[in-house]
Amino acid sequence: MRHQVEASESALVAPSLARPGIATLQPKGSCWYCDQAVDNVRRFCSPACRTDYLEEEEGYFDPPRSPQA
Ligand SMILES: [Zn+2]
Repeated sequence: MRHQVEASESALVAPSLARPGIATLQPKGSCWYCDQAVDNVRRFCSPACRTDYLEEEEGYFDPPRSPQA
């Protein structure tokens, strides 16, 4: 793994880019969270789905430390 490298790289990223996920999502014609069909320019069918997706994504991008690391 490259934990050390990733830590260094993220340290170089501006703090304002604290949310790397949502800005890179591309509208795909369905909700990113629940897969319900939406407008082609939308990424979520509702604000609730957007919120839930972001909450899950926070956990994905900032996983808890492995106790055996
Ligand atoms: Zn949805």
